[in-house]
Amino acid sequence: MQILQSKKQFSDLLNNLRLQGNSIGFVPTMGALHEGHISLMKKCRSENNIATASIFVNPTQFNDRNDLKNYPRMPEKDIEILKNAGCDIVFTPEVEEMYPVPDNRVFNFGYLESVMEGKHRPGHFNGVAQIVTKLFDIVGPHNSYFGEKDFQQLTIIKHLVLTLNLPVKVVPCSIVREPDGLAMSSRNLLLGKEERKAAPLISKTLFKATDIYKEYSVSEIKNWVINQIDESNFLKTEYFEIVDDIELKPILSWEEKNNKVGCIAVKAGHIRLIDNVRF
Ligand code: AMP
Repeated sequence: MQILQSKKQFSDLLNNLRLQGNSIGFVPTMGALHEGHISLMKKCRSENNIATASIFVNPTQFNDRNDLKNYPRMPEKDIEILKNAGCDIVFTPEVEEMYPVPDNRVFNFGYLESVMEGKHRPGHFNGVAQIVTKLFDIVGPHNSYFGEKDFQQLTIIKHLVLTLNLPVKVVPCSIVREPDGLAMSSRNLLLGKEERKAAPLISKTLFKATDIYKEYSVSEIKNWVINQIDESNFLKTEYFEIVDDIELKPILSWEEKNNKVGCIAVKAGHIRLIDNVRF
């Protein structure tokens, strides 16, 4: 596996490989890799001639300074994990390489960024769009892999690709979970002992909701989920919304034809966890 820090070297190499007729797959990450990231890389490996990844903790998508400061970093272990998952080339730039000058671009995702993560993390999706467009420009992937764990991010990236007419296919990948059901996340490493013990209640409640929802109204299920989770002394729900999977508009009745996704954010101590399920 090649490890490159220079965007020029990375894009020159990929230009050559593309000209030789290779398909290029790309998995953008912020490192502290786990089985969720590995599943993206394995899919990327199986669907492309050349499998690439990036590890970059993107400062512009953090709306909380402490979250950025404390974000787990384990570059050596990450390199080993990517190698074992079949990655051919990994891009590990420094901040100055990606942001030689401040990026003042402002993206407008309209309603999509006005709800859920967009509402609770102002500027977050603008930062995501800044880094993803830069990375796509450097890599020029045919296929790029994103986890459904970050459901709103996936929706916004699909929208970005359509509005900018980018020649890349966005490939959604299923959520990978711990044996106890907790959605894998790099931030799980930062959970305190009690919070980690309490956290599986989030997915357990979501799954239960998908079993029982037909007997209740949408608003009853929403309240039930929030109450169940907030019964724990270590968890506090920030939002739970049931939305359609394209426009992210609230579902008002189960009779609606749209695909329905329940998206949640929960504070576990200082750590924010997100998850979602389909109804
Ligand atoms: P991150 O390193 O958190 O920026 O995540 C990089 C990519 O991995 C994103 O597309 C995430 O949605 C995806 N991802 C993170 N956690 C999981 C998970 N538990 N299952 C599937 N994909 C995930």
